[in-house]
Amino acid sequence: MTPAGGGAGGPAAAAGDRSAAAGSTSAAAGSTSAAVGGRSAAADGGRAGGGSGLASGRSAVGSGASAGLQVGPLAAGPDAGFCPRCGGRLAARPPTTCAACGYQLYLNARPTASLIVVEDGRFLALKRAMEPMAGLWEVPGGFCDGFEHPEAAAVRESREELGVDITIKTFIGMYVGTYEFQGEQLPVLDCFYLATLDKAAITLDPAESSDMTWFDLADPPKLAFSTMDRALVDAGRLVLP
Ligand SMILES: [Zn+2]
Repeated sequence: MTPAGGGAGGPAAAAGDRSAAAGSTSAAAGSTSAAVGGRSAAADGGRAGGGSGLASGRSAVGSGASAGLQVGPLAAGPDAGFCPRCGGRLAARPPTTCAACGYQLYLNARPTASLIVVEDGRFLALKRAMEPMAGLWEVPGGFCDGFEHPEAAAVRESREELGVDITIKTFIGMYVGTYEFQGEQLPVLDCFYLATLDKAAITLDPAESSDMTWFDLADPPKLAFSTMDRALVDAGRLVLP
């Protein structure tokens, strides 16, 4: 799965990168000391479009970040420093317009779909097997794929993560959260659906989940992502007497 929520890692490192990216183009490109880690390396090599230049920028950032997030010069989220169309350095964090080619770069929350599967006043929880938040409880779900509707994504995820079909009862709501992915804190739009199992025989995908259980919907524990906690409260309002 992969929905969203209150990711926490490396705020200090991220904040440092952001301030550097927010500076003017000339200052960021000209001063090595002002740039964070590999940003300066990428400014030298990345702009020329050479693969080796980009690669060296990445490795420089990787070695420079000692803990937490490792946001590099080719970040695609809030810390994006380069135009995805022409490779030019951006003067500001998105939303911004590339001075070199005019490309308008926006940052939008990525949609996910999650399921709150209910039965007799309880809901199904899975223990995350992968980072981020490995070992914590979550509800099934994942990112929408391309133009996929969130409801279709929810049905697909139930097959992938639970090995069963579910029946969607209603849309619970959507919640904006944060998801740590590839060293960046990305905004996500988590869509939650209330559902029931079509049959009881769940088969977990060991790559996704290491365990499963049922918790009381009236008294849920804190889950891996804050959007799940909020959706469970709203699900309880729909289901519980
Ligand atoms: Zn551009």
